[in-house]
Amino acid sequence: MNLEEETKFLIKKYHITANKSLGQNFLISEQVVKNIIEGAEITKEDIVIEIGPGLGTLTKELLEKAKRVIAIELDERMIAILQERFALYHNFEIIKKDVLKIDFDKLVYEQNIEKENIKIVANLPYYITTPIIMKLLEEKAPVESITIMIQKEVAQRLIELPGQKNAGAITYCVYYYCESESITVVPKSSFIPEPQVESQVIKLNIRKQPPVKLENEKLFFKLVKASFMQRRKTLLNGLSNNKIADKQTIKQLLISLDLPENVRGEDLSIEQFASLANKLNSIK
Ligand code: SAM
Repeated sequence: MNLEEETKFLIKKYHITANKSLGQNFLISEQVVKNIIEGAEITKEDIVIEIGPGLGTLTKELLEKAKRVIAIELDERMIAILQERFALYHNFEIIKKDVLKIDFDKLVYEQNIEKENIKIVANLPYYITTPIIMKLLEEKAPVESITIMIQKEVAQRLIELPGQKNAGAITYCVYYYCESESITVVPKSSFIPEPQVESQVIKLNIRKQPPVKLENEKLFFKLVKASFMQRRKTLLNGLSNNKIADKQTIKQLLISLDLPENVRGEDLSIEQFASLANKLNSIK
């Protein structure tokens, strides 16, 4: 049986109708599964936290490659299938929970996991991919990498370099925490049911050291977000409208950094944003 036949068989056997509100699109492409598993670089030393395992397509491969797989799934029907499918695997555990409510530090502690070799693999509904990435990064979850399927246009913004055309606030945030890479582009026909949009798998490798030194991380992220809130606005207007500082102060800061008054957020490198945030922090 190929993967498409196997998925259809499982759907029929367990009388599954895909739950749209849980973003259920099941992978049926062997090539994409192979690319994800190879891209995630899983070894026998690794503990994989798989988010949204669904029918267990990726789980099955992960169980062969990793030391342990801890899956987080919300849908009771999927949990029952996974428990039956992988009953003989001693390296498999499943947690029934909404991933957005998981405290990863607590999970690692409770599961008695060594912090060094934790890798996240996820194919999730698109509306929670960005929130879960930001949650993992901002809460400094003890993970080495995040390999995740994501809507193609969003993926481009996440793996873009700061200061490039497609950069947005999230580009700077992700770059601060990770070195990112594209693993594979995934056509709609790789899933049943087919999603509305094309997908891309990306890998975020968590940095050991951030690329810039910040006096106040919170202020940096607030500043970056405010700079991109209204994309066509200049940095000066974006920052003053969002009450980061008054116009006069921002003008002075721009002059001190040799930046023109009409500079826009996307024109700044991460180093320039960091200098701006550090200078602002020192006068606040
Ligand atoms: N990984 C499977 C695959 O590749 O075929 C299924 C992918 S499907 C796009 C997304 C899965 O995430 C579904 O099984 C869904 O039930 C689960 N899910 C959705 N929201 C979730 C949440 N907040 N927390 C945990 N799992 C969730």
